[in-house]
Amino acid sequence: MTEQNDSQESRQESRQAKAGAIIVPVTLFEQNCTIIWDEPSKKAVVIDPGGDVPKILDAIKQTGVTVEKIWLTHGHIDHVGGAAELRDALTVPIEGPHVADKFLLDNVVASGARFGMTGGRDFTPDRWLDEGDSVSIGGLQFDILHCPGHSPGSVVFFNKDLRFAHVGDVLFAGSVGRTDLPGGSHATLISSIKTKLLPLGDDVGFICGHGAGSSIGQERMTNPFITGEM
Ligand SMILES: [Zn+2]
Ligand SMILES: [Zn+2]
Repeated sequence: MTEQNDSQESRQESRQAKAGAIIVPVTLFEQNCTIIWDEPSKKAVVIDPGGDVPKILDAIKQTGVTVEKIWLTHGHIDHVGGAAELRDALTVPIEGPHVADKFLLDNVVASGARFGMTGGRDFTPDRWLDEGDSVSIGGLQFDILHCPGHSPGSVVFFNKDLRFAHVGDVLFAGSVGRTDLPGGSHATLISSIKTKLLPLGDDVGFICGHGAGSSIGQERMTNPFITGEM
């Protein structure tokens, strides 16, 4: 402590959180609407505002962050049902998903009606995302991985420095996304996971669209859909 005061101080600084995140469960599907922010600037992004927009706005207020963007992992109703309303409320752009999910964003009202969800609107994002793109919020940068299979236009947001990913409904703790919806393909999904997500590294932690998060390593070793047991 005494002999290395300076370096300890700088180490403490580097250990200070660079980012923060909270999860706001929304819709009857208990979808993990996620607010992620750059700690120094408190600039934030809302990922997958599926609905319950007043609840999301409350969480933003309580967290004290400034939301500058909305990011979408894919076009399913529980992830995008509140996107147009939140864009209007905050006057921020929507980025994502991949254009292959356009058919879903063109039918938000219709798919909402099937589940008794009102207030959703069809919309076009301000920016479609594709493999190799990157998006940023404050000083945080995320690489885009196009991971079709659960839906054709699913994307994953990966922050290399933080060793963190938001994987939407591609991969779950102990499971993978369902593939019985329009445009779904189980073989494509498993290929996306094996060729895009596993190579990110075992140390990468993730938040997913439903339920608890996990890490790539944990899933590589124990997820029956990846180990080949299912
Ligand atoms: Zn989904
Ligand atoms: Zn979902």
